[in-house]
Amino acid sequence: MTMDISNTRKLFPILDQEIYGKPLVYLDNAATTQKPRQVIEALSDYYLTQNSNIHRGAHYLAAKSTEDYEQCRHRVQEFINARHSHEIVFTRGTTESINLVAYSFCQEFLKEGDEIIISGMEHHSDIVPWQLACGRHKAKLKVIPFSDEGILDLETFRGLLNDKTRIVAVNHVSNTLGTINPIKEIVETAHAHNIPVLVDGAQAVSHMPVDIQSLGCDFYCFSGHKMYGPMGVGVLYGREDLLDKMPPYQGGGEMIKDVTFEKTTYNELPFKFEAGTPSVGDVVALRYAIDFMQETGIENIAAHEQSLTRYATERMMEISGMHIYGTAPDKTSVISFLIGNAHPYDTGTLLDKLGIAVRTGHHCTQPIMDRYGIPGTVRASFAVYNTREEVDTLIAALNRIAPMLM
Ligand code: PLP
Repeated sequence: MTMDISNTRKLFPILDQEIYGKPLVYLDNAATTQKPRQVIEALSDYYLTQNSNIHRGAHYLAAKSTEDYEQCRHRVQEFINARHSHEIVFTRGTTESINLVAYSFCQEFLKEGDEIIISGMEHHSDIVPWQLACGRHKAKLKVIPFSDEGILDLETFRGLLNDKTRIVAVNHVSNTLGTINPIKEIVETAHAHNIPVLVDGAQAVSHMPVDIQSLGCDFYCFSGHKMYGPMGVGVLYGREDLLDKMPPYQGGGEMIKDVTFEKTTYNELPFKFEAGTPSVGDVVALRYAIDFMQETGIENIAAHEQSLTRYATERMMEISGMHIYGTAPDKTSVISFLIGNAHPYDTGTLLDKLGIAVRTGHHCTQPIMDRYGIPGTVRASFAVYNTREEVDTLIAALNRIAPMLM
């Protein structure tokens, strides 16, 4: 059963428009979700009535902005069930959160000859920062392989762990395959060797309840814009004792206690990792995105998206030449596909002309494309406001264009 989302959908004014004379069908949600009215209004209200820099003003607006900014930190803490609000660091997005850990954690803990383990289905954001760290410290990157269905090979993972491993980094959900990875099991396995785990949660937080304490991971990263919030804000959750030991990532205002030309002492958590003026308005509006998800009910969102994904998958498999990449039993609302030998860009362009927005290409996961020996895929991804009728529109469009492409 899909939920009745007509009221939810009304909160997203952008969806109510035509593209090339056709109603917009927005299926590029894994790249970024649309924003409900309350998020857009919170952002514009902030600039219309409240804009002020935080933490150091003696005036009303600065105090109000500081309060709202810090309130969002508590909201995020609650949302992912972190132990402390000072374990929540605001960043620009998942990419910056991972770069922060890859730089700062590795500065403290990675030495020549050490190893870092990532998975073969990571986004470039969870590959390149670790490669850079390995380059700086003369360490080695090891990769967990995955099966044709898109399931991580945990047996091989166990074999990769050894006394040189310093950290494991893996995504909660693959943005290309949709696979939901068994994070709890990965964390338990790594922790048995005293190795911390960073989880890239960019594709998870808007699709399922995330409980940091239950997952047991040491770092968790996500972006506001993929969870109905604004662009320009992201979150790094980090375990207090690890964050405490890690040196600052960037230097500047806010992250210091005392500065002389001889020596600087650093601020306490989380400010040690928030150098300079943050994107205050985006953080303030992020709270409204969390409210939106919780009021809608994350379980309801998940059930609705699962139902759409199942229906779309079944209908797509009826199309001749259709191949879906990522068929793990545990997956979110991402369908990556190719039709025959058609280039994904051609499929995407034709769908666009019919008003349907999908993403084409390697989705910042070139190693996944190499694994399958393909140039890229077409990716349709669903969010809470998508409807069964929109799936029907997609299927009708695919049936129409498939013969042109084969
Ligand atoms: N990790 C995953 C799994 C993603 O899907 C993305 C974005 O597509 C990122 C990281 C990077 O997120 P951002 O560009 O918001 O920093």
